[in-house]
Amino acid sequence: MNSQIHKIHQQLVDKAITCTQLVQQKLEALQQNTHNTVNAVLDKKALDLAAKVDKKIANGETIGLLEGIPFGIKDVYMVQGTYTTASSNLLKNYKSAYSATAIQKLLDAGAIPLVKENCDSFGHGSSSENTIFGAVKNAINPQLVGGGSSGGSAVNVAKDYTVFSIGGDTGGSIRQPAGYNNVYGLKPTYGRVSRYGLMAYASSTDCVGPIAKSIEDVRIILNVISGKDVKDQTTYTSEEILKENILNTEGVKTVGYFKNFIENDAIDAQVKSDFLASIDKIKAKGIAVKALDFFESNTLVSTYYTLAMAETASNLSRLDGTNYGNRIEAENLKETYAVTRSENFSEETKRRIVGGNQVLSQGFSDEIYLKGLNLRDQIIENFEKDFNTVDVILSPVTPSTPPKIGDSLKDPLAMYLSDAYTVGFSLAQLPTLTIPQGTPTGLQITAAKNNDELVLKFANFLKYTI
Ligand code: GLN
Repeated sequence: MNSQIHKIHQQLVDKAITCTQLVQQKLEALQQNTHNTVNAVLDKKALDLAAKVDKKIANGETIGLLEGIPFGIKDVYMVQGTYTTASSNLLKNYKSAYSATAIQKLLDAGAIPLVKENCDSFGHGSSSENTIFGAVKNAINPQLVGGGSSGGSAVNVAKDYTVFSIGGDTGGSIRQPAGYNNVYGLKPTYGRVSRYGLMAYASSTDCVGPIAKSIEDVRIILNVISGKDVKDQTTYTSEEILKENILNTEGVKTVGYFKNFIENDAIDAQVKSDFLASIDKIKAKGIAVKALDFFESNTLVSTYYTLAMAETASNLSRLDGTNYGNRIEAENLKETYAVTRSENFSEETKRRIVGGNQVLSQGFSDEIYLKGLNLRDQIIENFEKDFNTVDVILSPVTPSTPPKIGDSLKDPLAMYLSDAYTVGFSLAQLPTLTIPQGTPTGLQITAAKNNDELVLKFANFLKYTI
């Protein structure tokens, strides 16, 4: 699909549609939708902003490319004055006091925020069923899950309720729902986009990124939200990615893939055969393909969950009903904390807090947490070695197609294993993009750190190759 942003921009400039009409249409579609993608619509704010854009156009002023473009926001981002619930009971009534840097940059560019989007609570999940707002239904087949944790965002883009959405990806939460709903989803290099104002899940892998319907739209949004931010010390200055640079698809000479991801009992037969067929098409274009060795999926998933649970247990400790969150009074302060947290966090979130505190506790941390850190170092080294011999790594996004609504809740371990192909890239903080091609749940293109441009370039190449 071609750029929606350019198309709508042109329609606004040509006065084929007013911004108010556009925003009204999208708001109605969101309000009537039966996929449970919405936690809150920002109707008043959106219509006020749309009226301003219309006024500018009527006055003959030029508008920027993103001015008047409606977008969605996963409900883990602060947007001043809006409810930011993380799809949780604990923060059901929490209103943001400030706006996240990435969102502010989009607002400054004139984009119009329409909706706070349903997701797994605090980003905990791979299906968007861990939410107080009802399970998000898949855009293609509503019997199936929307994917997680940015499920509402991916479904909104797939259904054209938003032109693009901003998701959050800690271990796959942009890429996996993008794959389940046939859209593009980018997890940029860690640090390229500020996390300030994103509710922290696992701080060492949390990333902010776009979900959209075209590579060009991903590029436009990425350029706007990237950049150094004094409020997030992990950020760095990055160069703008130019359109012509990613349209010139030369530059990728060698593609790698992980043998053990494909030669594995856990992979769905269709995903496997489609993946191998894509590899053959790439080879037919004269590109060298190299099968690489990698860590077992179980090792990747265990390492990720050990570290992610430790970090989330620590990050969520501030949500105690005193500093933040709905407080439930009990006999004394300690009891108040306990009741507030046990009544207001979901089962899945509590599982992670308990697991995380366990791996960090005295007597266990050396054996579990430090081992997890050590394995992460080895995973990073492995990638550094691989990127000396290949330009990009191609992989399926998920081992299987989306489960039926209800199945993941019955079997959390199976849900964790569905993250097998996404979490390794997160641990190494690499740029990685889901494209809606190649397997029933898409393909993932990954490059070395800071090589986000190469990822987009290769996506353009694959658009016409497979
Ligand atoms: N599914 C993974 C998890 O539950 C990833 C979630 C995410 O990226 N926020 O941890």
